[in-house]
Amino acid sequence: METHLLYILNGREAKRAIEKARERVANAIGAKPKEIYFTSCGSESDNLALKGIAYANKNKGKHIITSKIEHPAILNTCKTLQKQGFDVTYLHVDSDGNISLQELENAIREDTILISIMFANNEIGTIQPIQEIGNIAKKHKIIFHTDSVQAIGNVNINVEKMNIDLMSMSAHKFYGPKGVGCLYVKDKVQFDRIQDGGHQEKDKRSGTENVAGIVGLGKAIEIATQNLSEYNKKLTNLRNYYISEIEKNIPEAKLNGSRSNRLPGNINFSFPYIEGEELLLKLDEAYICASAGSACSSGTSSPSHVLVSIGLSKELANGSLRITIGEENTKEDIDFLVNKVKEIIQEIRK
Ligand code: PLP
Repeated sequence: METHLLYILNGREAKRAIEKARERVANAIGAKPKEIYFTSCGSESDNLALKGIAYANKNKGKHIITSKIEHPAILNTCKTLQKQGFDVTYLHVDSDGNISLQELENAIREDTILISIMFANNEIGTIQPIQEIGNIAKKHKIIFHTDSVQAIGNVNINVEKMNIDLMSMSAHKFYGPKGVGCLYVKDKVQFDRIQDGGHQEKDKRSGTENVAGIVGLGKAIEIATQNLSEYNKKLTNLRNYYISEIEKNIPEAKLNGSRSNRLPGNINFSFPYIEGEELLLKLDEAYICASAGSACSSGTSSPSHVLVSIGLSKELANGSLRITIGEENTKEDIDFLVNKVKEIIQEIRK
């Protein structure tokens, strides 16, 4: 009897905790709690957004617009939709990684049902003109989704003001737990479920809720948005310091992505005559974690689709190094990093 009572109370508490987290996400992005759906990660949110909108609107049209530099969670979802008869336009980007608003307008057709453009790029940090894209989508009465996995917690986002209809988020990108994400869907925007099962998340996302993860996500997004301006300023200063030190110390270093309109913690450089993978291995020996611009698989390295899309040669794309800085990093860390990068590059170039 007692155990049963305890179970009911825990269930209620769990529900209350989930609703509190929903409220926190909504407050962080200028939405209503009922517009937030919890998922397992950013990739699932992207899948649910694109497929959910495509399936619910297939009788109105089958054309989707996205960009060439999206995360694989978007690009591979688009490929699947193409196999199912949808038509996808992939917008080009300029050398900074920005889409052209004119090209976007020109790509819109009678049967366009969705525009999906990422808020900020995960490799080169470039932030897209989201408000302007939202305005264009609204003018043409087209649903607008943005993958804000990299942006949320780094830049101010208000879905209402920016005319965003759907937005994907992932907790671990704003210091929340791994394995939990969420999707904002504006009230009255119709979308289909993509997973069959029970009635969780208003029938839109079946499966037992990850209560601990959701609570962690809610608290993390609250903290991240409350401290946003201070955090953004600190990281921007460190990022600009790293950029200027690299440019001062390493000949022919080329910054990838926009110099000013980029994520505060993202830095991506290409170094001619260098293999990024070799640089990574040597940095790893110094306990520095970073990413390169290519994915080595079975001995052949294929350059990043993002770096190729901004016009880099294969050689420059393969010689790229992406550093992400976070709230615990200091100027001393940056000095240590710059010295290591300089030392290793001199050694390799010899
Ligand atoms: N979208 C972007 C822009 C990302 O950077 C990532 C992950 O790095 C994802 C989507 C996927 O998120 P998750 O790893 O939570 O599935």
